[in-house]
Amino acid sequence: MHTGSFIDGEWFAPKSTTKVTNLNPANTSEVLAEFPAATAADVQRAVEGAKRAFLEWREVPAPQRARVIWRATEIARARVEELATMLCREEGKILAEARGEINKGISVLEYYAGAGFRLQGRTLPAEGKNVFTYTIRRPLGVVGLITPWNFPWAIPVWKVAPALVAGNTCVLKPSEITPGTASLMVEIFQEAGLPAGCLQLVVGYGEEVGKAIVDHPDVHAISFTGSTETGRLVYSQAGKRGAKVTCELGGKNAVIALADADPDAVVAAVLNGAFGSTGQRCTATSRLLVHESLAGRITEALVEGARALKVGPGMDPTSTMGPIVDAQQFESVLGYMKLGKTEAECLIGGGKAAGLEQGYFVEPTVFAGVSPDARIFQEEIFGPALSICTIKTLDEALRYANSVRYGLTSSVYTRDVYEAMRFVEGVETGMVHVNEPTVGGEAQLPFGGIKATGIGDREMSEDGLNFFTEQKTVFVNFDEGAKRDFNR
Ligand code: NDP
Repeated sequence: MHTGSFIDGEWFAPKSTTKVTNLNPANTSEVLAEFPAATAADVQRAVEGAKRAFLEWREVPAPQRARVIWRATEIARARVEELATMLCREEGKILAEARGEINKGISVLEYYAGAGFRLQGRTLPAEGKNVFTYTIRRPLGVVGLITPWNFPWAIPVWKVAPALVAGNTCVLKPSEITPGTASLMVEIFQEAGLPAGCLQLVVGYGEEVGKAIVDHPDVHAISFTGSTETGRLVYSQAGKRGAKVTCELGGKNAVIALADADPDAVVAAVLNGAFGSTGQRCTATSRLLVHESLAGRITEALVEGARALKVGPGMDPTSTMGPIVDAQQFESVLGYMKLGKTEAECLIGGGKAAGLEQGYFVEPTVFAGVSPDARIFQEEIFGPALSICTIKTLDEALRYANSVRYGLTSSVYTRDVYEAMRFVEGVETGMVHVNEPTVGGEAQLPFGGIKATGIGDREMSEDGLNFFTEQKTVFVNFDEGAKRDFNR
């Protein structure tokens, strides 16, 4: 792994005295790598190089650009274990989940490689006779990509691949917590034959490097994933100078189990949604709204399921839940667990995992009797803490589900198609599942949320590609000699 930044096809060590220290959250005495932090001057150089590279990359026919993405797909597939190991060691998720994330990113690469052969506009009828009107999609130029730590492979991939295939050049700033996986991703694109300057990597801190990208007048679009607070700041700063922006932010997702739900299916979905990836997914299930007739049985099974989880280092194949990502998140999650004990009944967990003091390990935690007004019900915890609240009707469930500021994803368990469809229509989230967990996204499907979760276009799918393009509407008049009525 390279431990610097990557500009104009070369790895280099920024001349800063500040370091980005890449720690293993499962063993905080293990320093995986130290990256010299990039600076605003490095961003300037990265943008200038990306501007130069854009002039040539935009002229490469889209199917040829797509073949670079395709080669990256093949290289990534041959390096799954290496990528998953890096991801597991720097982010903490267990190896099986890390492999799952790498494979998800590979699907995204496959999808966008194919999309390069279908960069399509529309043909539409014109008002005038013998006038041909159609649209084409053109790249934006240099785009800035700012990504978080929780999916250090999948999120950079689902921004970089559509941006490149559409003909843009990219300046990527990964989270300073997980620069190793991003560095491997850049290596893969380099090996795939991506020309120098098309993908610039700047490893540094958000306040300096992130801000410099957001404020740079030659960065035409910003695609950001992270917290709602930072996202809103990024949106307003970039918006002020007229850049195009999309932000995918926090979530507080609910599973609703109605009276006719299959209890075993609910339990399996909620255990995975709440504790998978240590609850550090933006699509995590952090609330269960369960019909009172099923509450006892389902709650008991969830507590048993949480008890059966084996918390431990992600690299240990017997572990089923890894650590929290860093000291700040660890303190924040423990703070919410402490708060939860004052707001509701803590049925299991609620603190640090015993015997694992070498890392940021917490217990899988279940709170019952949670009031919809409680902070643990309303605020994003981003850790393995589930809040359970009972409901009597679908209307009550919808009211509680919609009472939070976020709107990413939701799920209803029922066999009643009327209730399912009423839920689909009434719930305020960008993605809705019926008899499915809240988690998951697929390359071909739009991903994102509403309310405090999302600003701008959806990611992945055709929408994710369209964000990185602008449309040009073309009028071609071939009515030689005839007069056109320009007042029509
Ligand atoms: P942040 O929003 O702080 O960071 C996301 C990215 O933005 C990082 O690369 C960060 O850099 C960068 N950044 C920070 N400040 C600025 C700035 N002023 N201008 C431009 N870029 C900036 O999220 P965190 O990673 O700190 O996580 C905190 C919370 O965010 C979590 O508790 C969770 O609630 C939420 N979150 C949501 C995610 C989602 O997918 N919806 C993913 C991850 C987090 P740096 O790493 O250097 O600070």
